[in-house]
Amino acid sequence: MTQQHHRIAIVGTGFSGLGMAIRLRQEGEQDFVLLERAGEIGGTWRDNTYPGCRCDVPSHLYSFSFAPNPNWSSTFSPQSEILDYLRDCAERFGVMPHVRLHTEVEGAAWDDDEQLWRIETSRGPLTANFLVAAQGPLSEPSLPEVPGIESFEGTAFHSAQWDHDHDLAGERVAVVGTGASAIQFVPEIQPEVGSLHVFQRSAPWVIPHRNRPLKRWERTIYRLFPPAQRAMRAAIYWARESFVFQFRHRSVGKLLERIPLGHLRHQVKDPELRRKLTPGYAMGCKRILPTDEWYPALTKPNVEVVTEGIREIRPHSVVAADGSEREVDTLIFGTGFHVTDVPIADRITGRDGRTLADVWAGSMQAYKGTTVAGYPNLFFLVGPNTGLGHTSIVFMIESQVAYVLDALRTMRRRGARTLEVREDAQSAYNAELDRMTNDTVWVSGGCTSYYIDRNGHNSALWPTFTWPFRRRLSEFDAAAYALGTRAPAAADELERAVAAV
Ligand SMILES: Cc1cc2nc3c(=O)[nH]c(=O)nc-3n(C[C@H](O)[C@H](O)[C@H](O)COP(=O)(O)OP(=O)(O)OC[C@H]3O[C@@H](n4cnc5c(N)ncnc54)[C@H](O)[C@@H]3O)c2cc1C
Repeated sequence: MTQQHHRIAIVGTGFSGLGMAIRLRQEGEQDFVLLERAGEIGGTWRDNTYPGCRCDVPSHLYSFSFAPNPNWSSTFSPQSEILDYLRDCAERFGVMPHVRLHTEVEGAAWDDDEQLWRIETSRGPLTANFLVAAQGPLSEPSLPEVPGIESFEGTAFHSAQWDHDHDLAGERVAVVGTGASAIQFVPEIQPEVGSLHVFQRSAPWVIPHRNRPLKRWERTIYRLFPPAQRAMRAAIYWARESFVFQFRHRSVGKLLERIPLGHLRHQVKDPELRRKLTPGYAMGCKRILPTDEWYPALTKPNVEVVTEGIREIRPHSVVAADGSEREVDTLIFGTGFHVTDVPIADRITGRDGRTLADVWAGSMQAYKGTTVAGYPNLFFLVGPNTGLGHTSIVFMIESQVAYVLDALRTMRRRGARTLEVREDAQSAYNAELDRMTNDTVWVSGGCTSYYIDRNGHNSALWPTFTWPFRRRLSEFDAAAYALGTRAPAAADELERAVAAV
């Protein structure tokens, strides 16, 4: 059987993978495949089905610029609508025939002789000239390292793997974590559970939520007059760019902290609970969370906020650091994802046979978040230092996709078969990122966050406004790359054989 070969293999079918595929099709590229380990497309919005799940960046901006949706039901759409939107885009732009479901990428190794990627998947091997890693920044659920966690005999699940068959009515439930997911699902389950113990490591900064249903006349205007929706998108974009000032200037952040502190004072009257819920670090150091329901839920008589930390999990209980023990039936982990230690790094092997995880040693690094020295013809989407604390990641994805397309065009023009970013270009870029990160709230705000890796380095976040990122990626900068024109070994041999005849 001949091995399957494609010009381009894309890992993942979230916003990144689908965005890449749609734009490739629009450029006339037909020979590409999307490899998706799950049984459906959609990434984040397929996996996170917990009650109350919705985006926290307005939908007019958290969507593709080339596919505005006039039909969002609310300003911040629920998970099911975003998933429907992605399905619709995949169908409408003709991407579905390229999708291979239930196909997990288990390994990808660069073959320097043949100048292609040898990809191992759960459904067999294939090869590709280019590999696009769009496996997602928040796609691998992370569980805390707590002694005894595996001994728990009740029901336990992560928020990204919600067990909808399990009935929480009247149960004793412990929620571990108070991040972006927990603040959405806790208010939803609070009325139905018997008791709820919320284990909080550090209190999040919580701001009032501006979510509201979109009126029928608004939707009609957006449908009949698309420039109105584009104008709204632009207004939201620039309003959110202004949030960057608080991350980069402590005095601005300090001033703005009055908003969430007022929100807390207004919604929580009990001084002891308010003390527990007052963050002990600078606003913005961790993701700022918009919600009007979180604090009211925590004031309910069946809810307890535990700030002592977890010492141990036993078969039917959770033991806090102070030795107090709470009997529980169900444990729900709202403990986030493997962000700076992405599993795909263990699976991608470069020109010299080393995995990315090996080379990165805990601190991911790329050039423009997209290419990595020693890994020819590999493009990351939402790669190192492209995460955001203030606006839509789709903006970053579209910037990267445009850069990849321009790289492919340049290669075609110059007759190049391979592309590899130069080591010095990558180092200079990352040194600049480090300088931009210095003094920002993410490193000086006094918190531990998923933006910072195990070496204490910012390898996840883009540390400033997003428009400079777009500007930097607006054109493929061939000078930062080695473009190879050498024919693959097999072609060489064939040519020699033909010449000999
Ligand atoms: C609950 C939640 C809410 C969020 N809200 C926002 C928001 O409001 N605004 C915002 O900007 N961002 C938000 N995010 C971040 C979100 O992850 C990104 O916005 C975006 O969805 C990322 O898209 P992606 O395609 O890069 O990754 P994903 O959507 O994670 O897609 C990656 C895909 O790759 C697949 N995959 C992974 N590994 C493999 C493998 N080895 N082989 C094959 N397939 C693989 C996965 O199954 C998945 O389908 C949120 C995240 C979560 C979890």
